[in-house]
Amino acid sequence: MMRIEADRAKCDGLGMCEAMAPDFFEVGDDGTVLVLDERPGEEYRQDLTAAVDACPVLALKLRD
Ligand code: SF4
Repeated sequence: MMRIEADRAKCDGLGMCEAMAPDFFEVGDDGTVLVLDERPGEEYRQDLTAAVDACPVLALKLRD
């Protein structure tokens, strides 16, 4: 199963991931990303790949 990894030290809170996949990412009050569901189903791979690739500071990874 896929796993989403977020490096919160790198995250700048720009919210691209949240804009592209709001069911999985949320920028918290502290200005860094929260992963709402770290183990998404395979059916979300395309959306999540797009969201991960959209992060300007490369803070997100999708692992198998
Ligand atoms: S796109 Fe990257 S920098 Fe922006 S909130 Fe998401 S993880 Fe953080």
